[in-house]
Amino acid sequence: MTRGHRFDDSPLDCLIVGAGPAGMTAALYLGRFHRRIRIIDAGASRTLWITKAHNVPGHVDGISGADMLKRLRGQLAQQDLQVESGEIVGLSREAEHFHTRVRGGVTNSRVSARRSLLATGEMLDGDSNHERDIIY
Ligand SMILES: Cc1cc2nc3c(=O)[nH]c(=O)nc-3n(C[C@H](O)[C@H](O)[C@H](O)COP(=O)(O)OP(=O)(O)OC[C@H]3O[C@@H](n4cnc5c(N)ncnc54)[C@H](O)[C@@H]3O)c2cc1C
Repeated sequence: MTRGHRFDDSPLDCLIVGAGPAGMTAALYLGRFHRRIRIIDAGASRTLWITKAHNVPGHVDGISGADMLKRLRGQLAQQDLQVESGEIVGLSREAEHFHTRVRGGVTNSRVSARRSLLATGEMLDGDSNHERDIIY
């Protein structure tokens, strides 16, 4: 959620699904351009599996995946952006907007957005997600 829009139900500029490095990088850019966004994450980033990555620019001695995610969340916080916990379990498009269903976390609700950015990483259970109506 960003910049005081928590109780504003009007459609977002962009809903970001997934808060690994991809989703949080997108959020940083969209935030910098003052877009109204939310970033919702199910908490299973493959980045957490990385003991030490040696190919991340600016980290000459390497960085663990957990540290990378923590730093990215800290950078988002500087823009007053927070990752919300929850799982997107449905995504559909009606006219101009995407409508999503969020399960769990503090956001058990529906979200509407002009754009939807799927940064869900590699899905190991693609078939079951297909059954839940997620579009990639
Ligand atoms: C053992 C291991 C070592 C690795 N080492 C390196 C390395 O050294 N260097 C390197 O560059 N890469 C490495 N990788 C690859 C790296 O982990 C991935 O490239 C990176 O995690 C991809 O980032 P991402 O943001 O696309 O996805 P992820 O980090 O996987 O994040 C995706 C997020 O989306 C969330 N999500 C998924 N579905 C939903 C949904 N329906 N609703 C809400 N949220 C959802 C997930 O919970 C997750 O938090 C390694 C991978 C592994 C497994």
